[in-house]
Amino acid sequence: MNGVYAKTKSLCPVCAGECEATYREEADGIFLHIECPAHGGTVEQAERDVGFFKKSYETDYSPPPPHLVLPVTYRCNLNCRYCYTLSNSGGPLPEDRSIDRLLEITREFPGNVTLIGGEPTVRHDLFDLIRAAKAQRPDQRLSLGTNGQRLRELSYVQALMSSGLDFVFLSVNDVAYEASPQVHENKVTALENCATLGIPVWLHRTVDAIDQLDTLPVLLETYRKTIFQVTVRAVKPFGTSYPASEVFVSDMAFHLGVEHDCRKGVNPFNRFVRLAGKKVKLSSWTNDLPRVEPLDSRYLISSDVMTSFHRGMRMDEVLLRRMVQGRGRRPPQPEFLPCSRSATGRPLNLPEDLLDSPQVPRLCPGRGDARALFP
Ligand code: SF4
Repeated sequence: MNGVYAKTKSLCPVCAGECEATYREEADGIFLHIECPAHGGTVEQAERDVGFFKKSYETDYSPPPPHLVLPVTYRCNLNCRYCYTLSNSGGPLPEDRSIDRLLEITREFPGNVTLIGGEPTVRHDLFDLIRAAKAQRPDQRLSLGTNGQRLRELSYVQALMSSGLDFVFLSVNDVAYEASPQVHENKVTALENCATLGIPVWLHRTVDAIDQLDTLPVLLETYRKTIFQVTVRAVKPFGTSYPASEVFVSDMAFHLGVEHDCRKGVNPFNRFVRLAGKKVKLSSWTNDLPRVEPLDSRYLISSDVMTSFHRGMRMDEVLLRRMVQGRGRRPPQPEFLPCSRSATGRPLNLPEDLLDSPQVPRLCPGRGDARALFP
């Protein structure tokens, strides 16, 4: 126990700088120890089930084709409790990129593109953007990552289709994990509208409790002709999300009774299984740069530099906490963090951990003003 299982590179949760990391096997799972020269050590739990983790980690996996996840705005019409973006930070948001700028980015990208936010449907010129992007690159599959609230109107889904959108990447969580029952109902109506018009849906579900998986098979069965792929993501304790306990990929596989269905994922930290006849990706995030960075979706966040999806999330996280603190608000405080702790025993994710650091201004030239980091 406590032996080093593997070495890797990771990102410091304070400054998002690259640093050395080691996986260590402990009594209650596999932990990633991250050593930042400037901010010291932090620890994240990567898996609860050691055997499950090792089997994945030692299995070959196939890199997916490049895929750009492109935020077109940081504004949003919801306030989800698991939000990891800047949208509801209360601080200033980066300005939306112009259509011309977005087209420049997608023109050069060698793969498919998903437009996300915040919530992309708050942009009034979204249909123009989709039309122009498809006219420019008809070969590029273009999808929309949305919370579905605008798609409750059939005419809106019709307009998306007419603009040339290829499919919808729709978030539908268990009703217990939505902002309200009405939000959930709107999402189901959105799904129904996509079914009516024949627009394909890649369903996305975020969970912070294992029983939130139980309503998934019925949904997949009901909309089997519309839903062509599914991703289930276990929320991690960062951003504004501090679940009372963490769900791991092994928990989901065991709960769904598919623990023996161990098809390789697109990185060692996720698993493809079959559920109600659909291909389902069970996923979580592990801050392992060499294994996640070249393989997962790329996320465009600052200075028009394409960074990894994971690095993007980390940077959002860092900026979010600075902005919240800058406004005199504190993010929700966890009562305990059973799965994330600092090497010194202090809990992670507290603003003081960020603000005590003399290194903070290096990455945040105008604390409280994230625009300095965005074009
Ligand atoms: S998770 Fe997405 S839909 Fe929810 S508040 Fe954040 S940006 Fe908006």
